[in-house]
Amino acid sequence: MLTEEVYLGIGSNIGDSRTIVEQALEALDRMSSCTLRGRSSLYRSAAVSDIPQDDYINAVARLDTELEPVALLLELQAIEHAYYRNREDGRRWAPRTLDLDIILFGNRSINDSHLIIPHPEFINRRFVLEPMLEIAGDIYIPGYGSLNYLVSQAPALDMEKLARISHQGPG
Ligand code: ATP
Ligand code: CA
Ligand code: CA
Repeated sequence: MLTEEVYLGIGSNIGDSRTIVEQALEALDRMSSCTLRGRSSLYRSAAVSDIPQDDYINAVARLDTELEPVALLLELQAIEHAYYRNREDGRRWAPRTLDLDIILFGNRSINDSHLIIPHPEFINRRFVLEPMLEIAGDIYIPGYGSLNYLVSQAPALDMEKLARISHQGPG
């Protein structure tokens, strides 16, 4: 079966966002027909929105999947809903408990009403590009250029990489 390498953007800015993002990564690892191959550190970033809201916690995950893109999107939406994603006002860029975006799906390019790949905003988003660079290194993205180049061109953003939460005791 065809396996594709996928990069996902993860964000949360309502509730215990660090825990929600960590739990989302665990949920991604449990998804059938998917294998979690890598994950970035957690990052804090200021929200880029006209709607005042708290900072985000962001991360990027790398998956191998045998799912088709639309099937993967439906699985991701099911995980979002499992975290009681709060979107009753229906506004885009409103705060949310969990947002899972498909950034890259192999080298595929998709343009339909419900799914655009590569994600149309990824080159403008440091909170996607920097975590991606952390796990992927300086990969070349066809049609866009190298990840280092994209990071160098991306708009400035108030963001920082967070230290891993340290666990006490052995192990
Ligand atoms: P943005 O897409 O700018 O990050 P958002 O994440 O706030 O904004 P949502 O409300 O989460 O937007 O998603 C709106 C719709 O975007 C989804 O219902 C989905 O059908 C569509 N969509 C299109 N391309 C993608 C993609 N690459 N990954 C995830 N959703 C996508
Ligand atoms: Ca998003
Ligand atoms: Ca989204």
